Amino acid sequence: MQKTLIILKPDTITRWISWKIISRLEDKWIKLVWSKMVRLTEDQLKAHYSHLADKPFFPGIVEFMTSAPVILQVWEGKDVVEVIRLIAGVTNSRQAQPGTIRWDFSMSIGNNVIHASENLEAANEEIARFFSEEEIYSYARADENMLYSPDEVN
Ligand code: UDP
Ligand code: MG
Repeated sequence: MQKTLIILKPDTITRWISWKIISRLEDKWIKLVWSKMVRLTEDQLKAHYSHLADKPFFPGIVEFMTSAPVILQVWEGKDVVEVIRLIAGVTNSRQAQPGTIRWDFSMSIGNNVIHASENLEAANEEIARFFSEEEIYSYARADENMLYSPDEVN
């Protein structure tokens, strides 16, 4: 089953709204498989946001992302990379669809509550960046066999 990475950014942590974000994903019946609260390093952020390294706002991103702890999480489900990107909404919270996380919880482009991997390749890379093999600890939901119809499970 597909996995993706999210980061609950420092604004989420300092506003004490992480449970609200997590509950949205749980309500959608996406499975939380790994989770940890950490201090991100500048090196990790340079790798994670390498596509933005030459942007004038890049130092601001690093400052923001190291201003408080973040929660790193891996979520699992059918097409979960795309599903969580849709739930998160577009980068600019002021232009996100109403009902998305960024629309509902932010007015900012930079301080936009959540990171979600952009595609499957990025998801795999980001999961490997932030989680080691020893941290993987699988479990089954009690009602896991009710999440999908049989033809969706491979
Ligand atoms: N960002 C910003 N200003 C911009 C574009 C991006 O501060 O003009 C920040 C914002 O926090 C965003 C992150 O950089 O979430 C990564 O940018 P990306 O284009 O990858 O957007 P995302 O995938 O997070 O929607
Ligand atoms: Mg991105």
